[in-house]
Amino acid sequence: MILNILKRIRQYKILTVFLLFLPTIFVIFWIVNSEVLDFFNAQLIVENDARNLASLYAAEISKKLDSKFETLKFIGSLLLSNQSSDNVVDKETANFIRYLTKFYSDTPAFSIYSKEDKIIFTTLPKINDVPKIKFFPVSKNPDYQLGLVHIGLFHTEVLNERYILRDSLGKPLYYIRTAYFLDNLLSSDIKSKKFNLIVKDLRNNELLGRLSDGIFIKNASIISGNEIIVIVPGYPFEIKAVYPKKLIWETYINTSLKRLFVEGFVLFLMILVNVFIFFYINKKEREKKNLQRIVDFGTVLTQINQLISNVQDELTLYQSICDIAVNYGHLKLAFVAKPDKDGVFRILAATGETDYAYSAFISIKPEIPEGQGSSGKTWRNKIPNYVQSFEKENFTAPWRNLAKKYGIKSSATIPIFKKDDIWATLSVYHSEENVFTGDLKKLLEELSKDISIGLDRLDFRKRENEISKIRKSIIENALIGIALVKNRIFLQVNPKFAQIFGYSDLEELIGKPTKILFFDEEEYKRVDMIYNNLFANKKVELIELHQKRKDNQLIICEATVNVIDEDEKVTIWTVQDITERKKAQLELERAYFLLNNIIENLPDATFVINYEGKIISWNKALEALTGKTKEKMIGKNYIDYSVLFYDEPRPLLANLILNKNEKFLKENYKVIYKSENIIYAETFTPKIYNNTGAYVFVAVSKLTDREGNVIGAIESIRDITENKKMEEELYELSVKDSLTDSYNRRYFEKRLEEEIERTKRSNIPFSLIMLDIDDFKVVNDNYGHEIGDKVLINIVKLVKNRIRKTDFIARWGGEEFMILLTNTNLHFAKKLALELKGGMYKLDIPEIEFVTASFGVTTYHESDTVNSIVKRVDKLMYAAKAAGKDCVMCDFDVQNL
Ligand code: GH3
Ligand code: MG
Ligand code: MG
Repeated sequence: MILNILKRIRQYKILTVFLLFLPTIFVIFWIVNSEVLDFFNAQLIVENDARNLASLYAAEISKKLDSKFETLKFIGSLLLSNQSSDNVVDKETANFIRYLTKFYSDTPAFSIYSKEDKIIFTTLPKINDVPKIKFFPVSKNPDYQLGLVHIGLFHTEVLNERYILRDSLGKPLYYIRTAYFLDNLLSSDIKSKKFNLIVKDLRNNELLGRLSDGIFIKNASIISGNEIIVIVPGYPFEIKAVYPKKLIWETYINTSLKRLFVEGFVLFLMILVNVFIFFYINKKEREKKNLQRIVDFGTVLTQINQLISNVQDELTLYQSICDIAVNYGHLKLAFVAKPDKDGVFRILAATGETDYAYSAFISIKPEIPEGQGSSGKTWRNKIPNYVQSFEKENFTAPWRNLAKKYGIKSSATIPIFKKDDIWATLSVYHSEENVFTGDLKKLLEELSKDISIGLDRLDFRKRENEISKIRKSIIENALIGIALVKNRIFLQVNPKFAQIFGYSDLEELIGKPTKILFFDEEEYKRVDMIYNNLFANKKVELIELHQKRKDNQLIICEATVNVIDEDEKVTIWTVQDITERKKAQLELERAYFLLNNIIENLPDATFVINYEGKIISWNKALEALTGKTKEKMIGKNYIDYSVLFYDEPRPLLANLILNKNEKFLKENYKVIYKSENIIYAETFTPKIYNNTGAYVFVAVSKLTDREGNVIGAIESIRDITENKKMEEELYELSVKDSLTDSYNRRYFEKRLEEEIERTKRSNIPFSLIMLDIDDFKVVNDNYGHEIGDKVLINIVKLVKNRIRKTDFIARWGGEEFMILLTNTNLHFAKKLALELKGGMYKLDIPEIEFVTASFGVTTYHESDTVNSIVKRVDKLMYAAKAAGKDCVMCDFDVQNL
C-alpha cells in the first residue's frame, strides 16, 4: 500500500506532492513538541501543589508542638519563680497547671518529675496512672523531647512531650511532661480532594495517619501513587503528599484541551486539503490515460469499419478484428467466441495472450460459476458486460488465477448480432483495472453494432451470390411455366412452360408471338384489354385463361404477370396448367351440392358444423324445430345456436364429439351408443318448439376428409317425446294394479327390498302396514262382486289420501294391501293404522252400511329381509283377525312372533 503510494508520488509530480506534505509534517511536529512540553509542565504544577500542601501541613504540626513546648517552658518559669523546694510544686503553680488542663482539650494531663526523676505532681488522679515512657530529644532543642506514640489512659493515641528545665549550671531541675492527643495534633483545616497527606514518625517509621479531604484517619491504609515528601520542621516527622498519576493527565488536559482541539482541527483541514489535491492530481492523470485509450479505441473502430466493407468471409473478419483490437487498442488479448451445442464457448479467432483464451473454460449456463462470467452474461442478456477488476469482482473466481498468470486485470465482452439475434461474443482484455468506463463503453457498444452490421452485410452478399445461382436453377427446374415477354413476343421460356403447351424444344417458342398459345381470338383480345391495366398496376393475375396446346387442345391456365421493364414493355409470366384441377373442382362442387340437398331434405332436424364449431349447414326440419332460418344461422358459433335448444349457451353433442368432455356428456345426456366417431344419445331440450321443449334422440358423427383429418361434425335431432310418453305409460301398467290403481305385488317387493337396503345404510327406520278386509266374502255374497270392487277402489283412495308422497300402497292379494311408510317409526305407523281403521266406517258407498278391516303394523328390525318382515306383518294381521277383527296389532302387542 505505502509502496504503491510512493510509486505514485514518484510517478506524478514529486515536487508538488512534497511541497504539500512538508507544511503538514511541520505542523504535526510543532503540535507534538508543544504538547510534550505542556505535559511536563502539568507534572511540575501538580508536584508543586503537592509540596506546598505538605509544607503547609508540616508547618501547622510544627507550630502546634512548638506552642505546647512553650507552655511547658512557661510552667517551668513559674516553678522557678515560686520555687520553695526542689521536690515540691508550689500551690500557685499547681493551680495554674490544673487550670491549663481544663483549658487545653487536646491535652490529657500534665506531670512534673523531680530531678531524681520522681513524680512530684500530676493532674492525673493517681501517680501510677502516669505512663513510663522513653523520650527522645528533638533537633531544634535538646531540652524538647518527644516520646513515641502510644495508647494512653483514655484509650486514645497520644504523643508525650517533655521539657527539661535546667538550673543555671545546666543540670536538670525538673522534667515537665504533658501529652498531645494525636487526633488533635494531626487534624487540620487543610482540605484537598486531590492529595492525601500521610504522616510518618521517622524514629520508628510508624505511619501515624492520613489527612484526606480535611479528615484525619488513624492507622490509614497505604495509598499508592506519586508522592512528594516534606519534613516537619524541627521534629522527627515527615509528610508525604500522595496523588494518583492520572492527576497529571487531568491537569494537562484541563490546561491544554481547547488549544488541542483547535490544533487538531487545523491539522485535519490540512490533511483534507492534501488528500483532495492528491486525488485531483491522480484523477487528472487517469483522465489523460482514458483519453488516450478512447483515441486508441477510436482507431480500432475506424480500422474495423474499413475492414468490414472489404472482407469476404466471416472468420477472416473475426481474426482481423482481434488483430486490430490488440494492436491499436493496446490490449492484452482479444477473441471472438461462440457457444457450441453444450453451451461451451469455442474460440473462432484470437490475438494476443491466446493461451488464456484457449485454456479458459467459459459457459453460457447461468447455474454454474463458469457461466457467470461476462461472456455468459453477454450471451444471455445480449448486452455488453464488463469486468472492472479480476481481483475484486467475485464472479471472476473461475478465471482469477489464469488472468493473473497472463497479466490480465479487466475485460469487456460485447455481443455480436446476426439478423437481430446474438451470434457470437467479442471479448477484450486489458492489463489495468477500471479501464472500461464512460466513453470507452460507448465506443465498444458502437463497435458491437458495427460488427453486427458488417456480419449482416457479409451474409447478405453471400446470399445474393447464392440467390443468383439458385434463381437460375429454379427457373430451369421450376414446376411452373415461366416466360419472358416483350411486346407480346416470347423472349425466353423455361422447359416447364414449353412442356405445358406441348412443345419439346424451347426454340420453337422463343421469338414467336404469344398469340399462338391462345385458344381463340376472343381470349386473346380479352388479355389485350388486361394489358392496358398491367403497366399501371405492375402486376396482374389471370384466373382462368383459355389457352391452346401445340396439338390444338384447350387447356385452362392460371397466370401471374409482372412488369419487369415498363419502358421496354417487358413482362414475366408464370403459368400453371389448371385443367385437371378445374375438373376436380367442378366434380367436388357437384358432390357438395348433392350432399347439401340431401341434408336439406332429411326428415330429421340436422345441422353440420366445421372443425371450429361454426354452422355450415342447417336443414329445413331444423328450421321448423327452432324457428330460425338457415340464412340466419350459417356461420354462427355454438354460443349462438345452443341457446335455441337450452336455457343457456353450452356445447351440443356435435361440439362434444369434436372437443371431448366426458363429464359434461354424462351429466347432460343419456348416452345410448358411443364410439370414437359416433354418439347416439337422448336428452330433454327445453327451448325447441317455441319453449315447449321435447325429448330428443340425437345422433352425431365426426366428418373427416380423405386423409382422415377431422373437418367437422353432423348432428341429427329427432323428437321422441311421444315414444317417451308411451314408454312411461307402459311402465305404469307394468307396476300397477288396474282395478284399484295401487301398485302391484311385484313392484311392492322390489321397493321393499330397496327400502331395506336404504335403511341399512342410513339407519332411518321405515314401517309396514298390512290390511285385510274383514268378511269380504260376505260383502261379495250379499251385494255382488261389483260392489266388492267398489269397496276395494274406495279403500285405496282412502289410504292414498292419508299417506305422504314418499309412501305408497300396493295390492298384496285379493283384498289384502300393504302400505310402506318410509322414514316412519312404529308409533306413527300404528297411529296411521288406527286412523285408517276408523276411516273404514266412513267409506262413501251407499249400498252398504260399512266394512271393517284388520291391520298388522311392524317396523324394520335389524337384519330383516323382505321375507322376514312380510311374514311378521302377516302374522300380526292374522293376530288382529284372531282378536275379533276390526283391530290393529303391532310389534309388542303380540308375544313370540
Ligand atoms: P276374513 O275376515 O277372514 O278375511 O274373511 P274373508 O271373507 O275376507 O276371507 P278371505 O280373505 O279368505 O276372502 C277373500 C275374498 O275376497 C275371496 C274373494 O271372493 C274376494 N275377492 C278377491 N279378489 C276380489 C276382487 O277383485 N273383487 C271382489 N269383489 N272380490 C274379491
Ligand atoms: Mg278378508
Ligand atoms: Mg284375505
